[in-house]
Order: sequence, then structure tokens, then C-alpha cells
Amino acid sequence: MISSSTSPHAGSTQKFALEINSAHKSFGQVDVLKGVNLKLDTGERVALMGPSGSGKSTLLNCICGIEPMDQGEIKLGGVSLNDISAKDLEQIRRQSIGYVFQSFHLLPTLSAFENIEFPAQLLDIPKKERLDRVEQLLDAIGLSQRAHHKPDALSGGECQRVAIARALIHRPNLILADEPTGSLDTDSGGQVLTLLEDLSNEFKVALLLVTHDQASTRICNRVISMKDGSLV
Ligand code: ADP
Ligand code: MG
Repeated sequence: MISSSTSPHAGSTQKFALEINSAHKSFGQVDVLKGVNLKLDTGERVALMGPSGSGKSTLLNCICGIEPMDQGEIKLGGVSLNDISAKDLEQIRRQSIGYVFQSFHLLPTLSAFENIEFPAQLLDIPKKERLDRVEQLLDAIGLSQRAHHKPDALSGGECQRVAIARALIHRPNLILADEPTGSLDTDSGGQVLTLLEDLSNEFKVALLLVTHDQASTRICNRVISMKDGSLV
């Protein structure tokens, strides 16, 4: 099948959810990323390990645009972010990536339902579609009964499940997760990992999982390590 010519990705390779070529990033005199190369297939789950301070979070921040890269190329769904306007760049990042933080970063004044819905509002997804997706995700994370609770009425594990649903509401093809179980006890952490694995399979979404914990790599197809500013 030939894909529609109206697709924003028309003419580009669709194979990799993420492709990083020769990424460089320094903070002052400190070279943190020294030529990072990485490819994630559609739906592939990769664990990124390495000592504290080795640049794992910096790499994730460069992928999602929180930090600018100094040199190199990032492609999302085959589209090089170097070749497009600032407006398209913002749009492609927003659509392609879901981000999960160690400390959840839920909005405290919004309910679980509203937290999950919020990014879909920013992307102008029509209301009916939005509400259907939130219901579906609440069901998938097992929190339909707690939809109207605010984060302070939820446990850490429940908050992270909400954050994962929020990261998926706009149907990204890549989830970046920075130590998502780092603030959780072993049981809740295990549930969060299993959820990430199940949802990655269900939605065919690739996962780049930063973790300290060898046990977390069980849900991943591949494990890589950051060493001296590059991946091994
Ligand atoms: P990791 O996530 O692997 O623990 P980080 O990516 O957070 O590592 O940090 C890598 C290095 O970059 C560290 O030496 C850290 O101090 C430095 N660093 C990270 N962010 C900044 C920043 N915004 N300004 C200056 N230095 C930074
Ligand atoms: Mg970090």
C-alpha cells in the first residue's frame, strides 16, 4: 500500500520511531553527549542505563526539545527535525512524543481524568474523541473508579499510571520515560513497568526507558548504556 500523499510523513521512511545521528551537547566546558547514535524501531522498547551524571536525561531532553542540541540530527517517524520550520518542529514533537517523568508532574488542581485529557485539548482533538480516549485509557490503567480524584488523593503508583495515560492520549509513536519507577516501591514500580509494556504493545508505541534498575529491563527488547558521552 502507498501511504496517502497528504500524510505529513509522506516520502520519508516510516521504519524508525526514533533515529539519532551523532548528537553532541555540552554544558559549558563539559561535553555530555559526544556523538550519540541510536535507532528505535516502531514499537521497540529500549532500556538506557549508565551512571548518574552520564547524560541520560540530557539525551531525553534533547529528543523532546527541552534542551537544544549543539550538533547532530534527530528523526521522529523518519522526519528529520533539522529540515523543518520551528512551527512544524513543535507540532511533530508534540504529536510524536509522550514523556513520563520520575516525579509524575501531574497538575495538582486537575483530576486524573482532566490530567489525562489536557494534552489532547492542546492538540485540539475534538471533544467526543478526547473523552472516548480518556475513558479507554482510564480503563487500561485500572483507574476508572478514581477518575475524579486529584493527584493528592492518589498513591504514587496511581499517579504514575495517570501520567502514563496522559503520555499516550495523543497517540504518540514514542514514549520517553526518565526513571519512571524511581519514586515508587517495588510493587507499584512493577505494576507501572507492566503497564508500560502492555500499552506499548497495544498502541505500537516505542519506549526509551531510562533506568538504574536492572530488573526494569525485563520489559525491554534491548539494553544500552551511556559511557563517556556515547552509547555502548
Ligand atoms: P543523568 O540523567 O545520566 O544522571 P544528566 O543528563 O542529568 O545525567 O547530566 C549529565 C551531566 O550534565 C551532568 O554532569 C550534569 O551536571 C550536567 N547537566 C545537566 N543539565 C545541565 C544544565 N541544565 N546545566 C548545566 N549542566 C547540566
Ligand atoms: Mg537523569
